[in-house]
Amino acid sequence: MKIIDGKATASEIKLKIAKEVAEMINRDEDAPHLAAVLVGDDPASHTYVNNKEKSCKEVGFISSIYKHPASISEKELLKVVDFINNDDDIDGLIVQLPLPKHISVNKVIESINPAKDVDGFHPVNIGKMVLNLPTYLPATPFGILQLFDRYKIETEAKNCVVLGRSHIVGSPISILLSRKAYPGNCTVTVCHSKTRNLKEICSNADILIAAIGQPGFVSADMVKKDAVVIDVGIHRVKSSKTKSGFRLIGDVKFDEVSKKCSYISPVPGGVGPMTIVSLLSNTLKAFKKEVYH
Ligand code: NDP
Repeated sequence: MKIIDGKATASEIKLKIAKEVAEMINRDEDAPHLAAVLVGDDPASHTYVNNKEKSCKEVGFISSIYKHPASISEKELLKVVDFINNDDDIDGLIVQLPLPKHISVNKVIESINPAKDVDGFHPVNIGKMVLNLPTYLPATPFGILQLFDRYKIETEAKNCVVLGRSHIVGSPISILLSRKAYPGNCTVTVCHSKTRNLKEICSNADILIAAIGQPGFVSADMVKKDAVVIDVGIHRVKSSKTKSGFRLIGDVKFDEVSKKCSYISPVPGGVGPMTIVSLLSNTLKAFKKEVYH
């Protein structure tokens, strides 16, 4: 069994980006600029946005955070997005989700200029992804593709089972792995809360991607021998063994599944670090106008 080391892979990619940015600055060019819109005071959202800002700094990007209270109206938030859309100094724009209930997520995402939509959530960019056209791929699925590539994992003609169909992970990774491409050319089955015979479906998977948000859901008896297992889930559970009193676990029971599979991405240190680095890659693409000229 081999561990898919997302932390090391992400560090390698970050170094490459940092080198490219340093060269730009040496040539007196601007650095890429990522703006994040943060609404309300959900602690997880604040942590995610702070981590994104920290990563931007590490590679030499400019980053700005537009913080607004949860009471902001939808109209006001759309104005903020419009303001950033029209600021030529900003290359990439993300709106941290979730948003308060009185704001339509779809309306806000659709208001983002697709050329700045480095999260890859805008319908235009999702359409381009489906058609295999150049675009910004959603960060977590993009990170998973980069891990397949880095570890030269064969995907062609493999049975791939994706657990979960969210717009940010399950659905896009299922589309990406069924595309005529590498990584891709898989026969993909997408499972969700209404799926029957889940265990039987999973145990036929050559590649199993768990993104259901259920701690330790995938057990060894659901996994085919020598399967490739990608664990997207992140859960904070209490622990007496760590200083913080918490530790992170995934959707997969790592101890038992790792004994049976050929490759596994751990939690932490697997998909998580790849997600942020994919956002940086998309921001660099936006700066270089590689997707929208
Ligand atoms: P969502 O809650 O949006 O989606 C979960 C999906 O799993 C849904 O499609 C749901 O089905 C399905 N599901 C839930 N329970 C079951 C079940 N018992 N059996 C079968 N299907 C089930 O989650 P996300 O996609 O946003 O996130 C999934 C996990 O990944 C979370 O732990 C999240 O924290 C983590 N995550 C990690 C990231 C990273 O960078 N590593 C990035 C994003 C998320 P239905 O559609 O029918 O409701």
